Amino acid sequence: MKALVIGGGIAGLLAARVLTESFDDVVILERDKLSDEPEYRAGVPQGRHTHGLLVRGGELMEELFPGLRDELVQAGAVLADAGDMKILNPLGWLATTRIGLPLLSLSRPLLETHIRRRVTAKIVDVVHITGLSFRGGDVDGVITRDGRIDADLVVDASGRSSKVPGWLAEAGITTPEPEVVDSGTGYATRIYTAPKDFPVVYAESLSAPDISRGVAVMRIEGDRLMVSAQGAVGDHAPRDPDGYQEYLDSLRVPISELLAEAEPLTPVYLFARTASRRNAFEATANWPGGLVAVGDAVCAFNPVYGQGITVATMEALLFRQHNDFSAKGCRAFQRKVAKTAQGPWAMSSNADRSWVETKRGGLLGWYINKWQAGIVHDPDLFRRFVRVVHMVASPASLLNPVVFRRLAKYSRQARRQERRPAGSTPR
Ligand SMILES: Cc1cc2nc3c(=O)[nH]c(=O)nc-3n(C[C@H](O)[C@H](O)[C@H](O)COP(=O)(O)OP(=O)(O)OC[C@H]3O[C@@H](n4cnc5c(N)ncnc54)[C@H](O)[C@@H]3O)c2cc1C
Repeated sequence: MKALVIGGGIAGLLAARVLTESFDDVVILERDKLSDEPEYRAGVPQGRHTHGLLVRGGELMEELFPGLRDELVQAGAVLADAGDMKILNPLGWLATTRIGLPLLSLSRPLLETHIRRRVTAKIVDVVHITGLSFRGGDVDGVITRDGRIDADLVVDASGRSSKVPGWLAEAGITTPEPEVVDSGTGYATRIYTAPKDFPVVYAESLSAPDISRGVAVMRIEGDRLMVSAQGAVGDHAPRDPDGYQEYLDSLRVPISELLAEAEPLTPVYLFARTASRRNAFEATANWPGGLVAVGDAVCAFNPVYGQGITVATMEALLFRQHNDFSAKGCRAFQRKVAKTAQGPWAMSSNADRSWVETKRGGLLGWYINKWQAGIVHDPDLFRRFVRVVHMVASPASLLNPVVFRRLAKYSRQARRQERRPAGSTPR
């Protein structure tokens, strides 16, 4: 049995890793030229920007590749506690505390390269897939610029710009229009030398509908800082260094003082294709056998929530419990993929709806706002919240009477603060 994976990004590598457990032959086809060393590449333009790896994603990867975490630390990744951060939300600095869970801070190319080195599937680079091949209504391979390659299963892991819906349409298979929630967020990223005491993770979070400028800073390998200015609704940082510096100075808490000792090492790189976008492939009536899709090709999240890699890891693991790739089996697989992405999608898209709709983000949005107040005051609430954000605890763990009472208290305090005359000192 042979599986072909379109795309050697993180979703493709992880899918291939799990498929090698049940398929005799697993081949990843990647359009970019791949290097043995961590390098930025054209097919993954987001690789130049901060990528947080959630604790759950890190744990699952360690299960798939035992010893990966140590290997990454050896290569310079920073290992910290998941509470080791300094974060400003709309109501103040979070009441950070130790969580007792390991967090790896690193660049995306470093992570991808080390996963690639551990994957035993065959990887063929510089192969551009241009279509799907069909037999009797099912997919039986892919078309490349040089010909056709046979497969019993084709896995689309080609990311947010996947052409699979178009290729299916050419074969008379219509997939539902994707659901899109676009906060209009743009990243502008520059790497600096890391001052000695700079936190492992530092961020000023965006908050709809008022706070359209923020920043995420991560310590990465090579004693460097990756600084991503994030601007929502088109309020993006510019590429020129002076304009970029001005943008950083215009944040609620300007970080120029913190960066005073930091030397810029790169130009500023921009990226703004960040809309949350999900395809309901599971609802395609005549979805073919022999084809499934995972990762950003199915559901891409606004990256400010840091969910994509972890969801892709969870989706790859679905191949362990699934071996029916008939048309019915593939639809069943897509239902599992949709279910895996559902919770993270609800969390991030709900928060973002307030950028684009006058109506607030419903009950979930209201409840998340309560938490914004709770986590600036209460380390225990912070701990509970971080465990959910990092997907190691269920969102249901945020719903209990003790928590409700404490949240009610802090949101009363926040309302009193809002009513204070301008100029008085918060907290
Ligand atoms: C600015 C930004 C910041 C992000 N930050 C985070 C973060 O903090 N945390 C997090 O978890 N996630 C983050 N993400 C999301 C994360 O990058 C993805 O969710 C994750 O990497 C999984 O992507 P993927 O493998 O599905 O697709 P991609 O990483 O896009 O990989 C797709 C691969 O397919 C190849 N390909 C495409 N078409 C073809 C073709 N026709 N033929 C052959 N090969 C093809 C491409 O070259 C590429 O290698 C961020 C995304 C962006 C845009």
